[in-house]
Amino acid sequence: MDMAELRKCIGSTRFGIEAHEAPVAEFPVQPSQKDGLGRMCKLHWNQYTAGLARDAKARKTTRDEAAAPDPEPIETKPSRAKGKAKEPPLEPADGAAV
Ligand SMILES: [Zn+2]
Repeated sequence: MDMAELRKCIGSTRFGIEAHEAPVAEFPVQPSQKDGLGRMCKLHWNQYTAGLARDAKARKTTRDEAAAPDPEPIETKPSRAKGKAKEPPLEPADGAAV
């Protein structure tokens, strides 16, 4: 097989992460994915999950202060069934890597 195979990191417009291609080795193992690999490279996956955590905190604070309605639902449970989600599921890679 081709060792230098590239895989697309989907990035996240929400967190300003641009999509790009990276060697397959740069992607975290994610058994819940169809092909067993995450859809973002490790670096961006970490940025993404960190961003989500920040967002969740900020949202909670905002809600406490202003009683604002939920801007958007956050998916906190694995959605491994539907493969057409634009963003990866919020579970950490294999529950350990993040
Ligand atoms: Zn990336």
